[in-house]
Amino acid sequence: MRIAGLAAGVLVLAPGHLQGQVLKTCEGGVTVKLNAGVTAQGSLLIAEVVGTKPLSGFAGDWDGRAIPLWSEGEKSGILHGLIGVDLEKAPGGYTWKVSWKNPAGEEKSCSALVTVRAGKFPIERLTVEKQFVQPDPEQVKRAEEEQKRMRAIFQTVTPERYWDGKFLLPLKGVTTGGNFGRRRILNGEARSPHAGVDFPALAGTPVFATQAGKVVLAEELFYSGNTVVIDHGYGIYTLYAHLSAMEAEPGQMVKAGEEIGKVGATGRVTGPHLHWGLTVESARVNALQIVQREP
Ligand SMILES: [Zn+2]
Repeated sequence: MRIAGLAAGVLVLAPGHLQGQVLKTCEGGVTVKLNAGVTAQGSLLIAEVVGTKPLSGFAGDWDGRAIPLWSEGEKSGILHGLIGVDLEKAPGGYTWKVSWKNPAGEEKSCSALVTVRAGKFPIERLTVEKQFVQPDPEQVKRAEEEQKRMRAIFQTVTPERYWDGKFLLPLKGVTTGGNFGRRRILNGEARSPHAGVDFPALAGTPVFATQAGKVVLAEELFYSGNTVVIDHGYGIYTLYAHLSAMEAEPGQMVKAGEEIGKVGATGRVTGPHLHWGLTVESARVNALQIVQREP
């Protein structure tokens, strides 16, 4: 079931970080497209490969990482892909490469260069009492173990697409969220950047799966509190943190717009809000950008 209020959410983002669509004509009537040739840390790139015939045996590679390509219809001459530019990826030039075998069995490839610029993220300087910023050794150990497990989850690429259509926002009635990429400097010491989007909301507000997928984690973690992670397939995951209640279990398949929990203030937070994260092939991306993706 789809929640109409979520699907209707209109997002307005400053598109300043997206410049110059890439359109490259390659051998054998293959065209490689990207929505931007210049992008910023934490962005999502939308890739397309267009051919005159149904395309098969194509592989995508972004800076040495395999990117799944899929077709929307069996006989479609278009392949789609989503490339995540991690929010800490070093600014510079990177290659998007598509390779395939032509009918004669020869290896062919076509590349496009993408410039990644530094993201414009807010910086917050805070001075707080030491005991609030320094967890004890046991807590540090626990947090590190949890981070390791999360990395292993996000590195797992399920070779199947669970989602269908547009991604939704995780709360009803919201149009945008904030804090993505924020660098926090606590007592002069830089902390890891804020990898999600925060939505202030009252505790108990229902939280919805932004797309269909398989729940791969639903448990209480040190920093993010009660956390649900959904695998949407092809290396795409969404994360919902600080929940007061979790209404999903690992292994469970959920639909787009299905309730998976309630907003809360669990974990290391100052007040109730939903923290929503998006990971694409391990790259931490501004989740609001996937909502704008054309299907
Ligand atoms: Zn957050």
